[in-house]
Amino acid sequence: MIVDKLGRRFRNLRVSLTAACNYACTYCVPDGKRLMKAKNELPAMQLLKGVAMLQQAAGIDKLRITGGEPLVTPKFDDFLLGVMGLGLADVSLTTNGQLLPKKKAVIESSGLKRINVSLDTLNPLRFRQIARSGDLATVLAGIDAMLELGLKVKINMVPMRSQNLQEVVPMLDYCLERGIELRFIELMRMGHLQSGNGFVNDFVSMQALLDVIGEKYEFARTDAAYDSTAVRFQIPGMGVFGVIANESEPFCRACTRLRLSSDGFLYGCLSSASKHYIGDMLDQPSHLALPTLQKLLVSALADKKLAFQGEVTVMKFIGG
Ligand code: SAM
Repeated sequence: MIVDKLGRRFRNLRVSLTAACNYACTYCVPDGKRLMKAKNELPAMQLLKGVAMLQQAAGIDKLRITGGEPLVTPKFDDFLLGVMGLGLADVSLTTNGQLLPKKKAVIESSGLKRINVSLDTLNPLRFRQIARSGDLATVLAGIDAMLELGLKVKINMVPMRSQNLQEVVPMLDYCLERGIELRFIELMRMGHLQSGNGFVNDFVSMQALLDVIGEKYEFARTDAAYDSTAVRFQIPGMGVFGVIANESEPFCRACTRLRLSSDGFLYGCLSSASKHYIGDMLDQPSHLALPTLQKLLVSALADKKLAFQGEVTVMKFIGG
């Protein structure tokens, strides 16, 4: 097992199926232009091989499918069905939900149990202002479709002072009514938010968020898994919400995440631009590929920081 001085090891793999996205969210891209796929994206079968090798070499046992937007690529169905057969302890999917109604059948037949839908507002106009594409009603229909299938649904919301702070309580009401765990993600200094005023003007700290929620609900801190990204709070008799507090309470010291990009690079840390290419190993027999892969994993683990420092790399390349 590859472990660093802090006892950190890779356990959770996030696979970005494609860098392409059907949205152009204000916090993800600066210019409103939709993201395109990367130059040399790997097909589903190659990515699945990569996952299987990482299970062997790093002990990966949890996997999240992400992007870009994972539902826009034609390889989504094959990858999902394939990955569900790899014997991982946990597989989940992060999506903006726009294509969920169309993907209901394949999701049902795959046996997927968990899904995270990113949704920053329940107001249709504001939705278009933030996502700069898509349609709120379709996303809500997609969430209903997943609840009908019995999936455990979480919603990810990025609260921003100038854009959707007034949506925090309505979103919590919506989630509590449906048994959905809401995850507030503190705005991160990624891509164009790494410099300039955009981050400072819009950032909402965990405490500021809790103050807003406290005007309506009473809550108390509750348990979260050791390597969880979220600080969790229980509203007695009603449900749980979480805060992914990258700035206020960084979880870097217990981070077990590794990322595989759609074009075959491993990233050991969201706050580092260092990347390690594994695409050329995927056609080699295991006895040749595994020793090289293990060396890359040692380097990728050394990329991990002690606190989130921001990174100019846009999240879409490396998977949120
Ligand atoms: N397209 C998929 C989706 O929307 O869930 C997956 C990729 S998206 C990059 C993953 C998550 O990252 C989303 O929940 C999104 O809100 C979040 N995200 C992207 N840029 C962010 C930023 N600068 N700060 C905080 N969260 C961000």
